[in-house]
Amino acid sequence: MAGSKLVLEGRVSIKSFLLGLSVLVIPLIRTTFGHLDWVFDYLTETSGKIVICVHIAVINGLLLLIYRGPVYKVALRGCFLGVTFGCGLMISFSETTWTHFGWYMCSLSFFHYTEYLVTAVINPHSLSLDSFLLNHSMEYTLAAVSSWVEFTVEKLTVPELKQLKWLSVVGLIMVLCGEGLRKAAMLTAGSNFNHIVQNEKAQSHVLVTTGVYAYFRHPSYVGWFYWSIGTQVMLCNPVCIVGYTVASWRFFRERIEEEELSLIHFFAEDYVEYKKRVPTGLPFISGIRVN
Ligand code: SAH
Repeated sequence: MAGSKLVLEGRVSIKSFLLGLSVLVIPLIRTTFGHLDWVFDYLTETSGKIVICVHIAVINGLLLLIYRGPVYKVALRGCFLGVTFGCGLMISFSETTWTHFGWYMCSLSFFHYTEYLVTAVINPHSLSLDSFLLNHSMEYTLAAVSSWVEFTVEKLTVPELKQLKWLSVVGLIMVLCGEGLRKAAMLTAGSNFNHIVQNEKAQSHVLVTTGVYAYFRHPSYVGWFYWSIGTQVMLCNPVCIVGYTVASWRFFRERIEEEELSLIHFFAEDYVEYKKRVPTGLPFISGIRVN
């Protein structure tokens, strides 16, 4: 991709993400002159809430003025993720008991935004609004909502469970490593990477066996698997840690079998050889059986 220009949608997404991130500007200015706690008041006090709502309304008005049609939809999502990331940072750096939820907001918004941006870089032909993975599936949305509900209920009933800083740090490390591995895989696979498993081989499709693919056959799934569990470890959500582990494991086991069936059709002996040499990277998942 060296030297090639980022597609329009990619550029719009960067600008709108940064515009969303501008929610940080007012509290940053205020922090310079006041106490850090004020950052959080910005979200909880009525006056702070009004300021943030007016700010979001103004930047959305700007988006409406600048962009039209499909590009506006990209901008709206980019901006929403930027606002979420900005609010996550504010909460993370405030001296309250919500710090770890702030980390979670940053992790979630960063993941979804960079899924879009990296797709725009490596495979612009496959780029669509779905590349944000915001509407991945009903199950994915339900999983996210369940984790918010579990966090809130436990925060109200067993608040000490949400203050296990070491556990949240373990979750943060899992999230960072998982995110790094997934994006490294996407960048290594380049145009061979696709959010939708391909059943027909494109002419340009080549077998990737280098970089992170030399260690794991499915590095982006390994990254996503540990990232998703990491988000729940970060939130100290015991029920969702188990739920996410089981659900993601089953999801990837099925997906890998489906994907490897196509890969054997595409690359025959080359893939079978690769499969013998390199593990999937996911625990107790060996992929499709070959006779
Ligand atoms: N499972 C891989 C890639 C996910 S993207 C990972 O976890 O990193 C899904 C697409 O990648 C599918 O269309 C599949 O055909 C393609 N793919 C998977 N492994 C590949 C490889 N080693 N080389 C080239 N394409 C691959």
